[in-house]
Amino acid sequence: MKKQIVSLKQFEVWFITGSQHLYGKEVLKEVEKNSKEIASAIGNQKRISVAVKYKKLLTTPEAIFQLCKEANYEDKCIGLIAWMHTFSPAKMWINGLKIIHKPMLHLHTQFNSSIPWNKIDMDFMNRNQSAHGGREFGFINTRMRIARKVVVGHWKDEEVVNSISTWARAAAAYADSQKMKIARVGDNMRQVAVTEGNKVSAQIQFGYEVNGYGTGDLMKHISAIKSKRIKELVDLYLSTYEVSRSLGKKGSKHNSLKEAARIELGLRSFLEEGGFTAFTDTFEDLHGLHQLPGIAVQRLMADGYGFGAEGDWKTAALVRTMKVMASGLNGGNSFMEDYTYHFDGEGLVLGAHMLEICPSIAELKPTCEIHPLSIGSKSAPVRLVFEAAAGLALNASVIDMGNKFRMIVNTVEAIEPPSKLPKLPVARAVWKPQPDLKTSAEAWILAGGAHHTCYSQNLSVEHLRDFAEMCGVEFILIDKETNINTFKQTLKQNYQ
Ligand code: MN
Repeated sequence: MKKQIVSLKQFEVWFITGSQHLYGKEVLKEVEKNSKEIASAIGNQKRISVAVKYKKLLTTPEAIFQLCKEANYEDKCIGLIAWMHTFSPAKMWINGLKIIHKPMLHLHTQFNSSIPWNKIDMDFMNRNQSAHGGREFGFINTRMRIARKVVVGHWKDEEVVNSISTWARAAAAYADSQKMKIARVGDNMRQVAVTEGNKVSAQIQFGYEVNGYGTGDLMKHISAIKSKRIKELVDLYLSTYEVSRSLGKKGSKHNSLKEAARIELGLRSFLEEGGFTAFTDTFEDLHGLHQLPGIAVQRLMADGYGFGAEGDWKTAALVRTMKVMASGLNGGNSFMEDYTYHFDGEGLVLGAHMLEICPSIAELKPTCEIHPLSIGSKSAPVRLVFEAAAGLALNASVIDMGNKFRMIVNTVEAIEPPSKLPKLPVARAVWKPQPDLKTSAEAWILAGGAHHTCYSQNLSVEHLRDFAEMCGVEFILIDKETNINTFKQTLKQNYQ
């Protein structure tokens, strides 16, 4: 499924070039011409999802400081791409870098791709100095502990463009995270540890705010829904999904479908009124609700809302962030939980949840079914049931370590289930974790990774690493290369 969750073209990344006055007007003119050409060539690439705006040639500390101030205050600006065309003495950058609050990418490129061996003279050397100009800029960033992405290579190189594209998506998600409002309806599932955490620290680190609401706040919206709107939504369900006969217009459970539609409309109205882009609920606090929201949550997630079950606001935020990052790409992102293992053969994981898996990852048209919930005492909830598409994917989790947040990512390969699952009444994905089930689960557990994750079919490790770096959180990867001994050492080194 391809869906534009947010319009990424509303965001701008500003292209800035560093140089100095010593070269004289003529060289600086050329520097600016080259910069404009690079910025527009990158911006015109189809895979660059945001607007790239050439901003300025910077040759003085005052101009650098001014530009950083403007970048901070311009909402549309989600990051800076900095290129040192020539040598730009880096003390000039200190005051600007001290105040910059937008993500930065240091593009270490040069206008010419090759050295003209037979013709090269001092004039050429003067105009193609990024090899050392970029190192001076690198030093001051490292010296000042500035988080940034360094991309090396010629600007026409596909890998370079891909890296910029990935970073721009992460920067868009970072901008979204700064204003994300998460509604936590009810508290978290009682006694559960990993869904807890410090919301103040999270807001400082990721930008999003998490606030609690009672089920009554939501019920007010659900009760106010008019029956005409319920009927319209029920009709939409009937035309969009393969709906079980018992839920159909003449079925014995049709009222449950109507109730599910009422819950969806009420939830939507509650989220829209509060300006929320992510939310949580919990099956332990459903006062007034006849059933645990199933299809409602699934469809809201498909529309771009972040969701975490059992009060898991960290995962709700992550789901929203990953949906924004992947906006417009083929494939989907969903709340997920490692549910049960198949230890035979090479080892498989069946991922699912009680209800709430996002249909953006579905292979085929979902069926709409009703079944009792095995826990809790509410009526049977309506849910969408489907299988996730096969292919490469990943699971990501954010945990609160007490003194820091840690993001853990495991790459997986989703497969078609080895057999049909005729009695499983929930949406699911079956995958082979990398490097293998034993190593992946051991590493994940040692790292403290949660049982809740966001499962992605269209984001790469690089997207998530870029995002983690922008937020300044620890990033732990479990992939094909993971060796448990080295992994343990990494955790030990990162202990603090
Ligand atoms: Mn759960």
